[in-house]
Amino acid sequence: MHAEQRRGFITTTNMRNNKKQRTLSSFHGNHRKSGEKPGSVARNRHEPVHKNDTLSNLFKQVEIAKKECEKTMDCVSDMIILTDSEGIIKRFNRAVKEFTGKDYQDILGKNWEDMIIENELEAVTIHAGCTELHHKPSRRWFELNAYPFEDSELDFSGNVMTIRETTEVKNIANTLEKSRKRAEKDRKKLKNTLSRICSLMESVTQEQDSAVRFSNPNIGKCYEVKHCRDKKCPCYGQEAMRCWQVAGTFCGGKVQGTFAQKYQSCSECEVYKKATSDPLDQIGEHFNNMMYILNLQNYETQE
Ligand code: SF4
Repeated sequence: MHAEQRRGFITTTNMRNNKKQRTLSSFHGNHRKSGEKPGSVARNRHEPVHKNDTLSNLFKQVEIAKKECEKTMDCVSDMIILTDSEGIIKRFNRAVKEFTGKDYQDILGKNWEDMIIENELEAVTIHAGCTELHHKPSRRWFELNAYPFEDSELDFSGNVMTIRETTEVKNIANTLEKSRKRAEKDRKKLKNTLSRICSLMESVTQEQDSAVRFSNPNIGKCYEVKHCRDKKCPCYGQEAMRCWQVAGTFCGGKVQGTFAQKYQSCSECEVYKKATSDPLDQIGEHFNNMMYILNLQNYETQE
């Protein structure tokens, strides 16, 4: 027999391990001295032991449930905070600790609003019951939700707060909004351009005005763009003009031919590209080139 058992100091663990032995020793021990019936003595002596075991199991179950709850909370990437009715932080998960970079004891017992402010989370908008927060230092966005609760049995009330990062969703939404605005702007520009071209075509067909042209603010002075110094070029020193329609220009140090002969190389020139960088101006310049050719053919026919 163990020395402690002999002295009567039997620990709970030992009690469990030596249940059979204890039963026997009880049976053969006190009941003989007190004169009570053997069965009744054994039952009375075992009651505290059973109670200890039950309590021990209960504590163990509570501890397991607590750990399960903590682990579950810690697995969630959103910040979760439990506050009492005064807004004092009673519990929180690992995400809060990681975001704040503070120790458990430095967060516990704080007012949750103070914690938000201290960590530079600024409330920007409130919509549909949630608050949008912006963290300027990291340019991240979050969404805060509060779920009030009350437990009359435990006489406890408070809030469960969740803070979810929404940066990615927000960025996608911003990009989509920018694209939508750009598409809307382009749609208006296209509508305007088509309207201008329709109006020009009406002038040609109804008023027989072949001098009409689509106005393009991006036409430049080719000799400035190309740093040309050849004064013999017909475009040199002139106002901004459609040099690709001018015959005999001195592009690249070589005398060029007519519009039809040089259009291919002109369409790859930076002067032309700059003038038609906007697709709508490109449509306009196609109209202008068409009018130029029609005028030329008209002129040749008359001759
Ligand atoms: S190559 Fe054509 S577009 Fe370029 S500068 Fe000469 S004429 Fe103008």
